Amino acid sequence: MSSALQTRGLVKRFGGFTATADVSLDIAGGARHALIGPNGAGKTTLVNLLTGFLAPTSGSVLLEGRDVTRMAQHVRVRRGLARTFQINQLFPGMTVLESVAMAVCERRGLGARWWRPLAAHADALGEAAGLLRQLGLMDEAHEPTAKLAYGRQRLLEIALALATRPRVLLLDEPAAGVPAGESRELFETIARLPREVTIVLIEHDMDLVFRFAERITVLVNGAVLAEDTPQSIARDARVREVYLGE
Ligand code: ADP
Repeated sequence: MSSALQTRGLVKRFGGFTATADVSLDIAGGARHALIGPNGAGKTTLVNLLTGFLAPTSGSVLLEGRDVTRMAQHVRVRRGLARTFQINQLFPGMTVLESVAMAVCERRGLGARWWRPLAAHADALGEAAGLLRQLGLMDEAHEPTAKLAYGRQRLLEIALALATRPRVLLLDEPAAGVPAGESRELFETIARLPREVTIVLIEHDMDLVFRFAERITVLVNGAVLAEDTPQSIARDARVREVYLGE
């Protein structure tokens, strides 16, 4: 299968400290791939290098074979690389449906320009409704976003990222702060997303990671310690040492 997302020799230094040390990843199209590692392993830094929030000291990032290392974040989004954002960056008075429709308009370059044909906006509402259905949010379509329960807000964040029609979706702890019972459900919804979207998950809950991922990359001290199937990672003595002190 062809690569959806690759890094080649990615290095990020903060002053004299190396947060990302020569990381080369190759994530296949359609994969459900998890990045794990103890606190301070460099997961957040790596995500920030992938999205373009940070520029690497050296090395490159390739999206579907194209070098995007020097591209700004919004250009990478347009090229198909999306990540979730915290909901409080939205207009709190907007309904769930309106906010997703707005993200669809944004992608289509319709913006909030009111003189665009109404039909275009109706179309965007239709597409937004489809995304809400996919994520099981249709019952809350007309609720103000601020009124959604926390776990539902995290789903809305995913709907907003999907509205950009990503090829690769980066999920950085999508269940953070969500009660345990709900996070299982949230992951079941994520697992049902269509295979056209490659999913890269950063998650510290190993139970969720091992249920969801088909491949796992383990980062330690900014470097890749191991990359394999969940079964092999679970048996890997080096990984067990890092996590269990064995
Ligand atoms: P993780 O997400 O795996 O917990 P991070 O990527 O947040 O790891 O951090 C990796 C290391 O890089 C940590 O030791 C952290 O202190 C350091 N680090 C992260 N960002 C910066 C920064 N802007 N300046 C200096 N050090 C940083």
